[in-house]
Amino acid sequence: MKEEMAADKSQRIQMIAGVMASIIRIHKVLKICPLCLQADLDQFGEAYWHRTHQLPGVLVCPIHNCLLLEKCHQCNEDFMDQRIQYPALPTAFCRNHHALSEMVRIVEDLRLIGLSDFSNYILKGGYSEYNKEQMYDKYIQRLIRLGYCTATGRVKQREVREFFLSQYNPQFLTQIAVKLPEDNDFNWLSTILRKSRRSQHPLLHILIIQLLWDSPESIKLEGASSPFGFGPWPCLNPISDHHHVNVIPHVKIKRCSNTRRPVGTFECPSCGFTYSRRGPDQDRSAIYTIGRIKKFGPIWISQLEQLSKDHALGLRELSRLMKCDPKTIKRYLIGSISLKNEVNNLTNFQQRKKKRKATPTTKKSNVTPVRVDWAIRDQEINMLIKDAIKKLNNKRVSL
Ligand SMILES: [Zn+2]
Ligand SMILES: [Zn+2]
Ligand SMILES: [Zn+2]
Repeated sequence: MKEEMAADKSQRIQMIAGVMASIIRIHKVLKICPLCLQADLDQFGEAYWHRTHQLPGVLVCPIHNCLLLEKCHQCNEDFMDQRIQYPALPTAFCRNHHALSEMVRIVEDLRLIGLSDFSNYILKGGYSEYNKEQMYDKYIQRLIRLGYCTATGRVKQREVREFFLSQYNPQFLTQIAVKLPEDNDFNWLSTILRKSRRSQHPLLHILIIQLLWDSPESIKLEGASSPFGFGPWPCLNPISDHHHVNVIPHVKIKRCSNTRRPVGTFECPSCGFTYSRRGPDQDRSAIYTIGRIKKFGPIWISQLEQLSKDHALGLRELSRLMKCDPKTIKRYLIGSISLKNEVNNLTNFQQRKKKRKATPTTKKSNVTPVRVDWAIRDQEINMLIKDAIKKLNNKRVSL
């Protein structure tokens, strides 16, 4: 936009800024705050037109909460001299010599004051670090949080409209010259919340920001977009004492090389159980689905170890108790090398866990680390394998 301004393509600037195609009328007269006017005169000996007072929808001075004047309250004359192209500096008196500084009306309408504050914040470059797409992303993330949008980004337009109308009454919208969003899919509110290349008037954006956040700064705290929604996500280790409890604070996202779809990996900080899933999630219930188990984690392994010491338990029984298929059990029992590694991890893991303060959502696991005599363990596993093979041969367990 700066480049366009330097080239003085004013029409194009208005188009990019969303002012051109807008339903908001452009203000033809300049506005003034009687208290700012007086303050300027006192401080500088002359007054100037304030940018913050000229914004569409701004009816209140953000400093004094005072109603802005468009014209003299006594003679109804505005402050522009139509004979000259650029307005002269504001003066303490109207053309008919009425003192403007005496026309002070303090506004108490919090919506009007808020609108003035938000506009002023934006004018001072409050969101200059964000581009259009990033702002849109923030709206969507916020709407998801408030339940007005699905995790995949489908905005519940009808509900948003109801929410909008519950916060902004027709009287207020008329006052700031904004059209009521109609009851159809093409009203300005729906359009602004649909990913579109068309720019919309800043005032409409301000209304949305004010609707979704309680202060202009709060928008900055909104998290970045994720195809898996917001954490924490549940641990899906079926044998843990925190199964389905939301304990996983972070997701690692990669792109699937074939499908280009996002793949999220979720590692439980309590038990090490790690699963992945291809996104984006279609709805919030998707958080309970596992695409692939990447690691069972030391607690699961240790549980399997303890159970497998009971030689009476067959592969099927083990798989029932461990809540996974017999193939996996077999793979773990045979792969004693990886088992050693995982159990070593358990010892490190439990030490790490001791250092960490237990979070309220994380219940303590009752599995205690065992000092392992590896010579004996090798013999045990050796026996287990022989046993398992014998059972498999005898019982013809179908896998
Ligand atoms: Zn003022
Ligand atoms: Zn007057
Ligand atoms: Zn877990």
